[in-house]
Amino acid sequence: MRIAVYPGSFDPLTNGHLDVIQRAAKLFDRVIVAVAGNEGKKPLFSLAERKRLAIEAMTHLPNVEADTFNGLLVDYVESRGSSAIVRGLRAVSDFEFEFQLALMNRKLRPGIETIFMMPKDTYTFLSSHIVKEIARLGGDVTPFVPENVAAALRKKLRK
Ligand code: ADP
Repeated sequence: MRIAVYPGSFDPLTNGHLDVIQRAAKLFDRVIVAVAGNEGKKPLFSLAERKRLAIEAMTHLPNVEADTFNGLLVDYVESRGSSAIVRGLRAVSDFEFEFQLALMNRKLRPGIETIFMMPKDTYTFLSSHIVKEIARLGGDVTPFVPENVAAALRKKLRK
């Protein structure tokens, strides 16, 4: 059984994340979307909320599940019986950070590989950060996130 872990903040999950998840779900028997708890960045949504939003948006993908983790990613990957980390690459701007992270994880666990997936071109400009900015300013985010996430953003940011 080939299991991949797709880690991230997912604050919140966007259509870009979903695109990467759907691609990974075709390559692996099982994909675990692992929502990171130990983020220095102050998330808008709690860890439990981010996980729930991911679960709701992925019900059409039978071999995908969501989980939360704290601590070292490679320890979590190992604990789930996986040896593959999936990350998304949008543009050259992602490359430097992702390259550093992948090589550090390889140093920590040489047996774990990082696989990069590129989203559909129309999602290359999408980030959770920009979606939250648009939502805060009252813009329409429905083209960029699953419907349940758009609803959650409206509710969270309602003054
Ligand atoms: P992190 O805080 O770990 O970067 P994110 O939730 O922002 O968490 O992103 C998780 C992963 O998904 C990262 O590899 C990021 O580059 C990738 N990603 C984010 N948005 C997109 C997108 N629109 N298309 C493809 N990959 C994306």
